[in-house]
Amino acid sequence: MGRIALVTGGTRGIGESISVMLKENGYTVIANYAGNDQAAQEFTERTGIQTSKFDVSDFDSVTKSINDIESTVGPIEILVNNAGITRDGTMHRMDFEKWNKVIQTNLSSCFNTCRAVIEGMRERSFGRIVNIGSVNGQAGQYGQVNYAAAKSGIHGFTKALAQEGAAKGITVNAIAPGYVATDMVRAVPADVLAKIVKTIPVGRLGEPEDIARSVLFLVADEAGFCTGSTLSINGGQHMY
Ligand code: NDP
Repeated sequence: MGRIALVTGGTRGIGESISVMLKENGYTVIANYAGNDQAAQEFTERTGIQTSKFDVSDFDSVTKSINDIESTVGPIEILVNNAGITRDGTMHRMDFEKWNKVIQTNLSSCFNTCRAVIEGMRERSFGRIVNIGSVNGQAGQYGQVNYAAAKSGIHGFTKALAQEGAAKGITVNAIAPGYVATDMVRAVPADVLAKIVKTIPVGRLGEPEDIARSVLFLVADEAGFCTGSTLSINGGQHMY
């Protein structure tokens, strides 16, 4: 059995591609999701990958679910914090609920999951953590103070935890995707999306596989010297 990888939000979009690519490369994958049971069931039928339903923003639920996975499947050696949401709106119209939901789901989730696996990784002297940030966390984006703050926070979180894990064989890296063709981006109005594509030098949206390939690189046993980095994969839209 290959190393055990938990991919949050691993049943759709970028997460689905990460789950599948890890499985194809010999890892034992558990794909988490929040509530879309139908998508999760179809995902398992298509891929044969086991799923685990829990809300990454709920500390107790994350802790319990990760303990369950570790006692039934085995120790989680690879964690990909991919689950994320948007709740866009300009600051003067944004209510606290939208702010808080995005911060809890995109950023506090990283604390919740990492807290649950970090002691085991330290004991075993091995771990690979990859956090999915965003170009909008690097560059900011109109109507996304919540999302940009959460994603920017992920990049700081990554560097701090990387320093803590380095001597224990635990690497922590982030990926900052640009615009990738998933449900999240398909929800953007077509005229707005067309304008965004014009700002991408390679002239297209990214594909989920563009991101998954980088996760595969970062989680490899051989990638132990790569930690605290942020890989920008955005078609040249923002050169950071
Ligand atoms: P999708 O909306 O396509 O898929 C989101 C996945 O996350 C689903 O599996 C969903 O589960 C899960 N999820 C959402 N909320 C929770 C929660 N509270 N607990 C557990 N799982 C949850 O997203 P994308 O593939 O587009 O995005 C994946 C990541 O990449 C996100 O972090 C996003 O911010 C980031 N990103 C995406 C970009 C893009 O252009 N698409 C660009 C930059 C970054 P369910 O099916 O149950 O809803």
